[in-house]
Amino acid sequence: MEEENSVTDAAPTATWEAADRHFEPAVVAPQSDLGKCLFFAFHDDRLLVYLEPKGHLLPQLADFGDLNLPFRDPHYLGHLDDVHCFAIDLQTDAPPKGMALMGLRELYADFSEGIFQLAGRAFQIVNWDRTHHFCGRCGTKSNYHQSDRARQCPDCGLLSFPRVSPAVITLIHKGDEFLLARNARFPTGRYSIIAGFVEAGETLEEAVAREIKEEVGVDVAQITYQSSQPWPFPHSLMVGFTAAWSDGEICIDNDEIVEAGWFSAKHLPPSLPDGISISRTLIDTFLQDHS
Ligand SMILES: [Zn+2]
Repeated sequence: MEEENSVTDAAPTATWEAADRHFEPAVVAPQSDLGKCLFFAFHDDRLLVYLEPKGHLLPQLADFGDLNLPFRDPHYLGHLDDVHCFAIDLQTDAPPKGMALMGLRELYADFSEGIFQLAGRAFQIVNWDRTHHFCGRCGTKSNYHQSDRARQCPDCGLLSFPRVSPAVITLIHKGDEFLLARNARFPTGRYSIIAGFVEAGETLEEAVAREIKEEVGVDVAQITYQSSQPWPFPHSLMVGFTAAWSDGEICIDNDEIVEAGWFSAKHLPPSLPDGISISRTLIDTFLQDHS
């Protein structure tokens, strides 16, 4: 059995709960002394945190090397007010005593929305870097671009940027009712609104109409953008819409969707999506306006 590493001078950081902190993204770290930096270190898709009685805290250190953990290629993210932030690809799944590796969804309740989003940004960059060591066109080992968040092939020049996969998610309304569906992957009783990835060559509105027609068989009108949310599982951007039902009876595909129906504030399913998600925001907004 491996001997546990121990944390030496690494005092846990503050909680970072303040919602009014300003994050300024950048790619290249300043050359000056950066002071204690905030580190988002991921092994696979789990983030390194201190285990604290009052919640989980991120490491804030002068040097990530102080933790004596193997890691590769820190990526500068930018600064959160005056604190510089880095994403780290952690090369061990054995955290030191007093620390743990946790999934982002588990940490949602501990982090402010800004920190949660920053952790998602860090994960997407680490995950992109892990999967682009070699040129996708000619197979040559790629290098980091000097000023952009990109890797470049030294042979053919191909640039590879972090991948973002847009997906649309839509609340369909009909008077005081709205449409909820149960995905085959959801547990019994859990319903959400209709979501799907945007296909190549498609507008967001076309993706909304197509996904809805494919999954629940109805036509919609008044497709209206509401808000968006980076969704780092692993690299989506969820784009939220509302749309009005215009025609057709619900007809599920029985593949991706196994149940669907019209619901209202007085008639809700046993379980709705977590508060973390834009789907829940869209549902809550509709319920506030129709209760
Ligand atoms: Zn190449």
